[in-house]
Amino acid sequence: FVGYRNESSAAASDSASHAPPPPAERFEYQAEVSRLMDLIVNSLYSNKEVFLRELISNASDALDKLRYLSVTNPELSKDVADLDIRIYADKENGVITLTDSGIGMTRQELVDCLGTIAQSGTAKFLKALKDNKDAGGDNNLIGQFGVGFYSAFLVADRVTVSTKSPKSDKQYVWESEADSSSYTIKEETDPQLIIPRGTRITLHLKRDEKGFADPERIQKLVKNYSQFVSFPIYTWQEKG
Ligand code: ADP
Ligand code: MG
Repeated sequence: FVGYRNESSAAASDSASHAPPPPAERFEYQAEVSRLMDLIVNSLYSNKEVFLRELISNASDALDKLRYLSVTNPELSKDVADLDIRIYADKENGVITLTDSGIGMTRQELVDCLGTIAQSGTAKFLKALKDNKDAGGDNNLIGQFGVGFYSAFLVADRVTVSTKSPKSDKQYVWESEADSSSYTIKEETDPQLIIPRGTRITLHLKRDEKGFADPERIQKLVKNYSQFVSFPIYTWQEKG
């Protein structure tokens, strides 16, 4: 089967008054990431809530990096004084948004950090997986090693990362579906979504996992992890 794409649709939406934003660029995952993703998506691992711990720990690392670098370069933190983590649970739409005001990522860092496996823990995980090929399921391995950022795909079928590094004057959006061998990167063009610095991660939850978009449930989970995080974590919801 060969699929066809309508290549003219992008040009057709071009209007006379507004230059169209540069199109999203598509990248293939490094083979190891594809393998990891496959495993996460198809895993029967039941402690899916670890995704929150992983994302909070990444946010905390990003805030640490910013704090450390701004000691020698005060310019870095001049736009946003508050170093914090904000988690918004949208119950109605089954969406969780996690924002930090940390160091963010440049376009190249998005490719290097979220398209390849540099992290040693995840590399060990893959090795352990190989060694245990015949020794039974992946269940314990996910818990034992942690799968970092990609654990977002335990609960989400689509993840969007919008991020702004002080090293870049542009904000970029990384996006991937859970069952995809590729991801896209484009410039953030929605003025309402522009942040001065840091990273906003949006999890579009799988149908069966929408229950995580519950502020009370999030709050309970956060309480367990936040004792290891030295930045404030705020959780909130729309007033219904
Ligand atoms: P680890 O945290 O062990 O390095 P992860 O898979 O959790 O591995 O994250 C991969 C990398 O992606 C991180 O090392 C970091 O460079 C980048 N990253 C992830 N989340 C964020 C974030 N919120 N802000 C900035 N960089 C991030
Ligand atoms: Mg991590």
